[in-house]
Amino acid sequence: MRRNVVAGNWKMNNSFDQAEELLSAIADELDKIKTKASEVVVCPPFPYLEMAKDIALECDFGVGAQNVSQFDAGAYTGEISASMLASMSVKFCIIGHSERRKYFGETDETLAIKVKQLLANDIEPIFCIGELLEEREANRHFDVVKEQMEKGLFHLSADEFHGVIIAYEPVWAIGTGKTATSEQAQEMHAYIRTLISKKYGQSVADDITILYGGSCNAKNAQELFANKDVDGGLIGGASLKAEDFITIVQSF
Ligand code: PEP
Repeated sequence: MRRNVVAGNWKMNNSFDQAEELLSAIADELDKIKTKASEVVVCPPFPYLEMAKDIALECDFGVGAQNVSQFDAGAYTGEISASMLASMSVKFCIIGHSERRKYFGETDETLAIKVKQLLANDIEPIFCIGELLEEREANRHFDVVKEQMEKGLFHLSADEFHGVIIAYEPVWAIGTGKTATSEQAQEMHAYIRTLISKKYGQSVADDITILYGGSCNAKNAQELFANKDVDGGLIGGASLKAEDFITIVQSF
């Protein structure tokens, strides 16, 4: 079902103590809100997941990981499997973030396996797609996103696809302070929904949650989220400040 979701991607930030302080501050702020405008998910680094889950228990926010292995189990030093995350009751996982594609060589083909791993373990993938600056400048942004969707997601059955959250993150907007305009975000989100509709039918397309990510902050979230095909945000930098994050959560 289509939902309003705001997910915080902490990336590789914060010590354990800082993470605990930030999570407690988020929990305190969420406690003060009578009616939450969106579902809240926080994705801290792996070693903080258990602590995040303990804090989340008291105030109802989801906890997600930032990556998962494509493998089931075994001799894969340093990897974390989907079944391990599931055994800790982690309910969400970001995959395909542009930083993982760029620095860790993640391909659409690997992501196609990762998304299956997550779904098989009842974890909601937050699947990131988006074009580079040069691709937008060459007017190739629609083609790039189409290819990422086709290779990374369109092997799923309609039932499986229902379990995916998509995050459109133009790479040129991530961590740069350059947000996509409201029109650019809406245009691409509508396009993504059209692709889904062609592949799985209109009702699946209408049901899918599509987040925007890329320098979304407390000041611009409301304008971005006002677009009819933008169902919330994947938030990097601004998710590291409790007050800003909560403002974004309430920006619907
Ligand atoms: C992200 O990393 O997913 C992201 C959107 O980062 P930022 O909000 O800092 O641009």
